[in-house]
Amino acid sequence: MKMIGLAAVGALALIALTRVGSGGEAAMEHTVDAGMRAAAVLPLALGQDTPVVQQTQQVPPQQRRRWRYRNRYPGPIPTPEEWQPPDGPVRIGLQVGHWRAAEAPRELSRLRGNGGNWNGIAEWEVNLEIVRRTAAMLEDLGYTVDILPAVVPPGYRAHLFIAIHADASNDRSARGYRVAAPSRDATGRASGFVNLLRRTYGAATGLRRLPDTTRRMRNYYAFNFRRYEHALHPMTIAAIIETGFLTNAADRELIIGQPERVARGIVDAITEFPITPAPGRSDTP
Ligand SMILES: [Zn+2]
Repeated sequence: MKMIGLAAVGALALIALTRVGSGGEAAMEHTVDAGMRAAAVLPLALGQDTPVVQQTQQVPPQQRRRWRYRNRYPGPIPTPEEWQPPDGPVRIGLQVGHWRAAEAPRELSRLRGNGGNWNGIAEWEVNLEIVRRTAAMLEDLGYTVDILPAVVPPGYRAHLFIAIHADASNDRSARGYRVAAPSRDATGRASGFVNLLRRTYGAATGLRRLPDTTRRMRNYYAFNFRRYEHALHPMTIAAIIETGFLTNAADRELIIGQPERVARGIVDAITEFPITPAPGRSDTP
């Protein structure tokens, strides 16, 4: 997620609340929720995806020390040479960015209320539709799929984990997708998958790939098993994709208007990745 300025978030919240005032349908309930959240937690919008400590000055010294020395994953981190697939069928974890973030535990409390927003549509809604379609295609191919919310189960283990997000910017002309691997990848295999996904996603969607990735993507909270209990197992191969910009009309036409193409771009990378070949339906009893 790219940063959205406070003014923009405030404006979005206003738009959302205004829309709520004019329509009372059940479908608007999400809008109420998103609007209220944006209005209530404006400073969090700046924190965005990775709750990295950016405000050391406000944290009492004692608490700061605890944070610094707590390691959620003591013990040796396996090396790429020691990597082994998890037991059982090929399992793919698809994370819906920002979904159910309000349920985040204290260690991830900064996730609550962030996420992009466009004209009353919350980012998580767009992410969820993409994930649902991707999961359906994968299940047809015989994969076991977990659809995961913003908070992943502690030590989540799968053959592959993909966090699915959409970008937002104050600059309406900003567009394109980006894919990143964890900055510390204990599996040694994430960049191989990322290269595949960069290619297949572009081929399926025709969207432009942004050459840069953000620190927030590379240091995504779910990748940080040392710091958070609710993070991936170090042997879970992981990637994060920003599928396009919610705030750009051309990107929206694709990520909201043609989610099946978005899903196809993700599925093609998974089937091509040597570690996650399509199991085939014959395997299912
Ligand atoms: Zn996001």
